[in-house]
Amino acid sequence: MKNDLKQTKAFLFDLDGTLYLGNNVFDGVKETLDYIRDKGIKIVYLTNNSSKTEKEYKAKLIRLGLFDKRDIIYSSLDASIEYITEMLSGKKIYAVATKKVAKYLKKAGINLSGKADAVLVTFDTELNYKKIEKANDLIVKGATYIATHPDKTCPKEGVYSPDLGSFIEMFKASSNKYPDIIIGKPNAVMGDYLYKKLNLRREEITMVGDRLSTDIAFGINSGFNTVLVFSGETEKDAYAKSDIKADFALDTVNGIKELI
Ligand SMILES: [Mg+2]
Repeated sequence: MKNDLKQTKAFLFDLDGTLYLGNNVFDGVKETLDYIRDKGIKIVYLTNNSSKTEKEYKAKLIRLGLFDKRDIIYSSLDASIEYITEMLSGKKIYAVATKKVAKYLKKAGINLSGKADAVLVTFDTELNYKKIEKANDLIVKGATYIATHPDKTCPKEGVYSPDLGSFIEMFKASSNKYPDIIIGKPNAVMGDYLYKKLNLRREEITMVGDRLSTDIAFGINSGFNTVLVFSGETEKDAYAKSDIKADFALDTVNGIKELI
């Protein structure tokens, strides 16, 4: 039966707004993650943020005291690599990405080139005009346009930062085109790659996150169970009015302990 968290064998956790905000881990999160691991349940850190590589995320999660060697880190960048490898094999790719992310893409076998058949736009926190102009040229000339994720803002304390979804609107203004494909949450492309990797049944996988339009929609689109937490973006009154409903809605991730 779906919607029963007692059969969950893997929890997919969104990061910002779900487990922490910036560098502040929410109360009780470490204990909850330990409780889940002690039950033999897999923990996957699932993020749309493609500004960092797996190694950089691992370093952050270790620093925050959250990472255990049994855990998996999976981002929209990893899913994009799988997508390009499968669907655009041998094609040249122009990546709008940080230096570290570009290096990560190369290492994963992606053929990076300025004369490209496809453009991959990531959350490039080193974005500059040269890159914007180059990507726009290629998009207008008809290159396949891939974006890692759709989030318009990236949560941080104070004013949220512009994220890739804002870059997408900029490219729409200059090229009159939206991406041919967006890989990350809420798109099931990322869920399908993860599903294959985990080798579980869909009802044994539970997505936990704070955003309805990305995290919860992703879980629904992927056929996983869903848990909304009110520790981040979603307010309770907004949830009451929303058409997107999770299987469970909890104040924080700590409520999961009573459901497994
Ligand atoms: Mg979040």
